[in-house]
Amino acid sequence: MLGQMSHQPLLISYQLRFADRFHHNIEVISRTVEGPIDRSSWGQIAKRSRKLANALVALGVKPGDRVATLAWNTHRHLELYFAVSGLGAVLHTVNPRLPLDQLRYIVDHAEDSVLFFDNTFTKLAQYVASQQLEVRNFIAMTDTANLPADTHLPGLTDYESFIAPHSAEFEWPDFDENTASSLCYTSGTSGNPKGVLYSHRSTVLHSYAAAMVDSLGICASDVTLPVVPMFHVNAWGVPYAAAMVGSKLVLPGPGMDGKSLLELIDGEQVTSLLGVPTVWMGLLTHMKSVGYTMKGVRKVTIGGAACPPSMIEAFEKIHGARVIHAWGMTETSPIGTVNTMLPKHAALDDAGRMAVKRKQGRPLYGVDLRLVDDDHNAVPHDGETSGHLQIRGPWVASSYFRRDRDEAHDGEWFYTGDIATIDADSYMQITDRSKDVIKSGGEWISSIDLENAAMGCPGVAQAAAIGVAHPKWQERPLLIVVRHPDSDVTAAEVQAYLTAKLAKWWLPDAVEFIEALPLGATGKVLKRQLRERFAGYVLPT
Ligand code: AMP
Repeated sequence: MLGQMSHQPLLISYQLRFADRFHHNIEVISRTVEGPIDRSSWGQIAKRSRKLANALVALGVKPGDRVATLAWNTHRHLELYFAVSGLGAVLHTVNPRLPLDQLRYIVDHAEDSVLFFDNTFTKLAQYVASQQLEVRNFIAMTDTANLPADTHLPGLTDYESFIAPHSAEFEWPDFDENTASSLCYTSGTSGNPKGVLYSHRSTVLHSYAAAMVDSLGICASDVTLPVVPMFHVNAWGVPYAAAMVGSKLVLPGPGMDGKSLLELIDGEQVTSLLGVPTVWMGLLTHMKSVGYTMKGVRKVTIGGAACPPSMIEAFEKIHGARVIHAWGMTETSPIGTVNTMLPKHAALDDAGRMAVKRKQGRPLYGVDLRLVDDDHNAVPHDGETSGHLQIRGPWVASSYFRRDRDEAHDGEWFYTGDIATIDADSYMQITDRSKDVIKSGGEWISSIDLENAAMGCPGVAQAAAIGVAHPKWQERPLLIVVRHPDSDVTAAEVQAYLTAKLAKWWLPDAVEFIEALPLGATGKVLKRQLRERFAGYVLPT
């Protein structure tokens, strides 16, 4: 017997329609690429998205077509999020930090027909145009006055002129909720990037999940600043969830540095921040240098890479904000686990709380997690035994876009490539990427634990641990450190600091200092480059 409830497909356009009707005057603030702050509202965003949808249809964009963006977090990018998916086309957010050959590969592989780009990325747009791909139209996400000159880009127009002549009436079509809505490529350490094709259904379900209190808690009482880029994993789904709940949204445009972020946080009374550790490192360093203490920020969500305890401490102790540590992947939309505390943790002292908070958190309802060993056998969730982390659920990719070979799936389970433990309270803790584990004498040393401990050492700004060949132990850790600008901390001081924090056999055999860690397109440390740079490194005996 079937239930007798009305069937409304889970479509992204319903989120925008709802925001228009019920959050009409809630502000959407955006720093533009040209500089000035744009002050809009969910009502305005909805209206301009309808004009944009009409403009896209007039241009010939049809359901299923891929429309690409090379853009920062701005109101125009937000309108593209809703207009492109809303009319049934697929929004392909391209990461402008990708190496050129990968950028070419994904625009070609996705068969993008239109490219919207911020002026910052004009050269990248020209590069795409020079490659004889499928892209027919180029639209600069700016106004007529700021349209880049002499670009020779085919069909170039500016965004404001593109939407201006079109009606603000547009009937968002209904279609199957499993229709593709957006596309984001993830680059592994080798091979070509792989496309993750999200659906309306997965996106809407993930929006509910993002809004849950035990998740990112995106809500109407917050002023939300997603620093996580809209060109990577749909900015963690924040734009959709914010439309649904009617959160005031503050978009940082190209200003991801500490000074620009602080201006927005202060100026717009931001209460909730979301981003990766490298961005927060910049913000914390800037706030320290100008002697600023945050007052209004309640929540700082940190994910995308391991969050060092020293960062949690700085936000919570100095700035009075609660840190929400979360884990996810491009393939998981991205939210998989979020760290929130249980009632029994209230009695813990600082060290006990930190032991919980440093973990990546508990799974959200909707996803299922498990650990397996190399032979696919289940590994106990005892907080001690580590294994390959697998995940499944309605917002986890079931395969990659236009790719037959799929070594990442084990039936309906997706191999994350992460090594983790899960404790009796279901807190998951990542110890390593499987490619980065350091194997010493048959035992694994967690590079994340080693790095987190090192980043607590005074004078250490960033740290990365890699395995170096060792005649007796197979591999031993080498710690690579970036000093704080005003520090001259020595290798012996770092070693002495770590001695008090780690088991003896986890201590690095050597510490090397470099100017900066190599970062990939999504802000993660490129361990492979470090391994290449230190190939043949001879450890002291
Ligand atoms: P991406 O698909 O580029 O977003 O990268 C996903 C990967 O980032 C995961 O598989 C993890 O290795 C890493 N990652 C994401 N969040 C965290 C976290 N909170 N702690 C440690 N690693 C993380």
